[in-house]
Amino acid sequence: MSQTLRLILGDQLNIKHSWFDEPQKNVRYVLMEMRQETDYVQHHIQKIVGFFLAMRNFAEALRQKGHQVDYFQLDDADNTQQLETNLTYLIEKYGIESFEYQLPDEYRLDQQLSAFCKQVSIPTKAYDTEHFLTSRTFLQEFFKGKKTYLMESFYREMRKKYDILMDGKEPLTGKWNYDHDNRNKLKDPLLLKAPKTHPKDVSKLMDVLTASGAKWIGSIDAATFEWPTTREEGLEILSYFCEQLLPKFGQYQDAMYTGHTFLFHSRLSFAMNIKLISPLEVVSEVEKYWYSHQDKVDIAQVEGFIRQIIGWREYMRGIYWAKMPDYASLNFFEHSRKLPEWFWTGKTNMNCLHHAIGQSLDHAYAHHIQRLMVTGNFMLLAGIDPSEVDKWYLGIYIDAIEWVEITNTRGMSQFADGGIVGTKPYVSSANYIDKMSNYCDGCAYDKKKKTGANACPFNSLYWDFYQRNEDKLAKNPRIGMMYRTWSKMKDQQQILEQAKTHLENIENL
Ligand code: FAD
Ligand code: SF4
Repeated sequence: MSQTLRLILGDQLNIKHSWFDEPQKNVRYVLMEMRQETDYVQHHIQKIVGFFLAMRNFAEALRQKGHQVDYFQLDDADNTQQLETNLTYLIEKYGIESFEYQLPDEYRLDQQLSAFCKQVSIPTKAYDTEHFLTSRTFLQEFFKGKKTYLMESFYREMRKKYDILMDGKEPLTGKWNYDHDNRNKLKDPLLLKAPKTHPKDVSKLMDVLTASGAKWIGSIDAATFEWPTTREEGLEILSYFCEQLLPKFGQYQDAMYTGHTFLFHSRLSFAMNIKLISPLEVVSEVEKYWYSHQDKVDIAQVEGFIRQIIGWREYMRGIYWAKMPDYASLNFFEHSRKLPEWFWTGKTNMNCLHHAIGQSLDHAYAHHIQRLMVTGNFMLLAGIDPSEVDKWYLGIYIDAIEWVEITNTRGMSQFADGGIVGTKPYVSSANYIDKMSNYCDGCAYDKKKKTGANACPFNSLYWDFYQRNEDKLAKNPRIGMMYRTWSKMKDQQQILEQAKTHLENIENL
């Protein structure tokens, strides 16, 4: 009987895929732990463990359903650590007559697999991953003929197309967007709930990784690794989110608080990005929960959450496929500064960065505003090379896969794409960070000062950023006002000198 080999990549753990409806005698599946994946960037150790454990669990779930599965563990003797050679080995070993795969979400792997398919002598076929709400090319087609992309119109189209929070063709409550209701500072940490975790012992996997010589960043408690690595665990986190966190999600979605990593955030990105659960089932569950608990959860919380998933998440993927590979080298501001060493240790006197980085190293997680308005904000103001920025974000977060990382990093956070993702750079002085967090209270720097020995670096770097990029930004209608304010400031020279001193001393801030 002619045999087919089907490849499952580490972020394609979708048990609901039509491939797995029925076991077939002539189909073999393969999953591979490989050094090519542990080494393409330096990852957080929790990210490597999370991927490998979820892959092992997935292989087991497939076997339980009666599928034939080959699995390369990292330390298997016949594992060549490379995709093509491992595939060739299996094709020869089993006399495979056709090869099939699901479309990769990363350009890197897409290229690698396309090249492999051209070179093998057997028929090959690519399938959709059956995970996203849109195809790779939908966004491009949707905005065809338009000068710019706009997330809001894309998001409304998704709401209509999938009938989410809709009343016929109109939004259910008469309003599409509740963003303005969602901007509170957290004053009382007692409001917070403990995150729903799934502690498990990963010591054996850690032993294999240590022996392999692979390099990583960050820390792990191997006795209690907490991230979800099965579909069931992902679904439990979703239920917990609806019951315990959703009621305050939107309200505190931008808030930051020392010692509290997750606040009211869902922690669902990893489970979704490796496809244990699908975006549509997440939003359907949240919408369903809201319908039956309207006394407990108001629409602003629900709409805020749903927009992140069917709006931003899907939109970023569309931009990635519309703009790669050029996107990966865009550098609108021509920034070239090296990332300070303390981004790898968290050892800085700037309390906001100390906490955002420290927590990222400890948990492989920071929420959106920490990524955008603390670490990303500083990197942009300081003029860090966007390739260094990408590498840091792609490595450190458990949910970082290039399609959703680079569009957020190079696009939304660094404006290195010159305005494809966002309409203006996201930068702020200490004022915004203080408004949304308690970081400034315990900081060695003074949030109110722009100049002087203990002046908060964000305050002078902020104006320095606008001043040095005036030719690129002054015409932007959303920014012009900043230049009018700047022109009236009397201490311009001192501010620019202070920024220069901070940048010269960046390793010691
Ligand atoms: P919640 O706050 O609970 O939000 C729910 C879900 O909405 C998330 O799980 C995620 O799937 C989706 N979402 C929210 N914002 C975005 C966004 N801007 N783009 C895409 N999806 C979004 N997200 C990743 O999944 N991988 C990344 O590598 C990544 N890198 C980022 C880098 C930067 C500089 C910034 C500013 C954002 C990045 N994000 C990334 C988006 C966002 O920060 C994370 O999705 C979120 O923090 C994950 O935590 P959560 O699941 O608790 O999210
Ligand atoms: Fe961050 Fe400045 Fe506030 Fe310190 S004072 S926490 S450096 S914003």
